[in-house]
Amino acid sequence: MATTGGEPTDAQIRDFLTQEYSRISSDWYADVGDYTPALLEIKFEDCAAGYSQNRNVLQLCISEGNREDFECIFGGQKALGYRLGWYVSQRELVHEMLHEYQYKMVGAPTDEGIALFAKHKRRFPDPGHDATWFTAIALRASYFDVTADQLISEL
Ligand SMILES: [Zn+2]
Repeated sequence: MATTGGEPTDAQIRDFLTQEYSRISSDWYADVGDYTPALLEIKFEDCAAGYSQNRNVLQLCISEGNREDFECIFGGQKALGYRLGWYVSQRELVHEMLHEYQYKMVGAPTDEGIALFAKHKRRFPDPGHDATWFTAIALRASYFDVTADQLISEL
């Protein structure tokens, strides 16, 4: 677990999350001619991650307690107990990217999205987690080589 030592800086964390966003979104929207990436707003405080459809802004919050995760990420470690090995910030990034995908790419929910919503809605009581969000999950799970149910358990 060799790291450069010391706590990761704001700039290192920002760069990592920006690169991850850019890598995944350029794959997801490769065939979309008029795709405008969201503006990534990374705050170093205890706030709530979210995607604003109106502003096309994806907000991520790095609390003091989550900073040390980046030492592990930069050292090549995976989060224990998670199939995909993602730490909180990585899970939140993909969760919010699925909201972006939901609003930009999913028109009507698919049968699979409707079924996933019925099965998992209790875990996600906040607004926005409707059958179209679960449709986005159903459409993108294979990108991470997992099933939709497996991806949901990481979010
Ligand atoms: Zn959400």
